[in-house]
Amino acid sequence: MKTSKKTLFIFGAGHGGINPETGRYVTAGKRSPKENGKTLLFEGVNNRVNVALIVKGMLEAGHDAINIFDTWKDVPLIERTRKINELCKTRKCVFISVHSDGAGNGRDWYSASGISTFKYTKCSKNSSLLARFVHQELTCNFSGVSKDRGIRSKNFHMLRETNCPAILLELGFHTHLAETKRMLANDWRMKVVKSVVDGCDIYERNH
Ligand SMILES: [Zn+2]
Repeated sequence: MKTSKKTLFIFGAGHGGINPETGRYVTAGKRSPKENGKTLLFEGVNNRVNVALIVKGMLEAGHDAINIFDTWKDVPLIERTRKINELCKTRKCVFISVHSDGAGNGRDWYSASGISTFKYTKCSKNSSLLARFVHQELTCNFSGVSKDRGIRSKNFHMLRETNCPAILLELGFHTHLAETKRMLANDWRMKVVKSVVDGCDIYERNH
């Protein structure tokens, strides 16, 4: 395969991170309820950990991959899609948005759990393929660990406004106490990396 024919896999961590000057999480909400007075998981921070590991795994597997929002700032959605679309003009790209899910009132733990893959309601054939390949790996690797919530369609800005195949992953619920503890463990993160890398690998060979 010629290098120029390779897909650039663009990854984005949903929401913001920790402002290094204040030490505070910059996004409202998007976090776990408290356990013994301490917030267990800040979604944007956790998404950043996962994206860094995924990009490392993708590069090690020989793919071209980047973390496009390598900053603690909560980059506005319109700026995010503009930056992705600039890259799409230069070469064949794919965008994968990394999130975790939330339910309930933000103060109490809630029973919903599981993993979903989202595609745009009127998405391209390649977005559907990407969703199918990545989700089938997630289903396989998380069997017996987390609920399979399936491939879903939604009118998300990040999926609708990107000019390349795009999916959004909701990797567990940060509002489910037991699942949140699992999500913070290395074993969970390794399953995430393996699923995304293997799913992208299959996509690259079959689109
Ligand atoms: Zn999110």
